[in-house]
Amino acid sequence: MYHSECGEDDEAPGTRFLLFPQSPFFDDSAELELVEISAPPGTIGPGPSGPRMYTVDPVGKTTPYGAIVPGPDGPGMYLPPWDGFINVPAMPDADHNFTHIPPSDPAFEAAHLFGSAHFTMDVWEGYFGRPIPWHFAATFDRLELSLLPSLDNAHIGWGFLETGGTREHDGEYRAYSLNFDVVAHEIGHAIIYSVIGMPSDENASGEYYGFHESAADMVAILASLHFGSVVEALLENTRGNLYTYNRLNRFAELANTAQIRMAANDRLLSDFERGWSSEHALSEPLTGAMFDILIDIFHERLLAHGVITPEIEELSDRLEGTAGYGDVMQGIFDTRYALNPEGFRIALLEARDLLGSYLADAWDMLEPDGLSYSHVEEALLRVDRDISGGAYQQIIAGNFRVRDIGLARVGPRLVDADQDTDSHAASVRTMAPYG
Ligand SMILES: [Zn+2]
Repeated sequence: MYHSECGEDDEAPGTRFLLFPQSPFFDDSAELELVEISAPPGTIGPGPSGPRMYTVDPVGKTTPYGAIVPGPDGPGMYLPPWDGFINVPAMPDADHNFTHIPPSDPAFEAAHLFGSAHFTMDVWEGYFGRPIPWHFAATFDRLELSLLPSLDNAHIGWGFLETGGTREHDGEYRAYSLNFDVVAHEIGHAIIYSVIGMPSDENASGEYYGFHESAADMVAILASLHFGSVVEALLENTRGNLYTYNRLNRFAELANTAQIRMAANDRLLSDFERGWSSEHALSEPLTGAMFDILIDIFHERLLAHGVITPEIEELSDRLEGTAGYGDVMQGIFDTRYALNPEGFRIALLEARDLLGSYLADAWDMLEPDGLSYSHVEEALLRVDRDISGGAYQQIIAGNFRVRDIGLARVGPRLVDADQDTDSHAASVRTMAPYG
């Protein structure tokens, strides 16, 4: 078991949970990791429930939140709070922690969902340097985290984050609540709706939706890099050569695609000049650019600490994209990593936190109407000038250009949103009830 890497040693104590950094359904050897959420001991009660969010495991709930249901004043959106019976809630132990609940306990799912959502919010409030209010704060004080096994999806909406599961693997129920990436991704959508908001008309730019998916993925990736076990496995598996296979690019949105999506992708924005039909696919050039920026900043930090030499970095740049890259560079990284694994770890955490705070500052500058990937680039470049005096201008601009961002224009949406069952940027998540 590892201890998570969130926060400083001198911070006030929080409340402890055990989380799976990677879904236990992908990996039989998945281990739990101890994390501490920011809520002080004693502030998280049965459920778990706290000042910002509370978990409910309903009995007999069949309708997902967000569905349009009949009401006394005509049809309306079905919303929290759940007011029926509930299953036995997860209870804190005598020290107010939730680490005593094993995965075999029926209450573990609720504890895992709560811990994952809260931990992700903690990480990103750290990058923003302020509390992130809920986008539905006008209606509800707290987010209801709801378990609904009959739902083959995970979605966040007006006052709720609801997770079901899939039974497509020989009928075995695989709960999305146990998939940290899925929960963190949904919290990512909530952050973007709070910070940037909704476009003023329904026909928003395709890039607005693609940006949403990409940002949610980045929220999940950078949050997962706060698990010590993820960082260690990533570096051990690659010997610090992150262009090769790694755990970072193994993140999923199982709820919609039933397959693992890749952050390290080769997708270009020009692939969508004739049009687009899935915001998940449209998000890939932007996520790919962000992933490459993360790796490039990591290299810069390795260089700054003398963990790799300028000659190695220059060779890597020169060989990038060539057939011989893997063989040559892996041998070099094997040697350097063996010399100083801790240097690699520090450089990766620095790159993670630099990109996290850059993204938070950049997202704060964006407007929802007419949002384009070029606006994201412009905002990042401005943040970089403000914070570092422009140390990463070439890395940022270069990686956006490689993706044809700023060069290509995205074509029209090719299918009606109502027919796109893959879409979950539908109004359920975003619109206030009753308009
Ligand atoms: Zn999404």
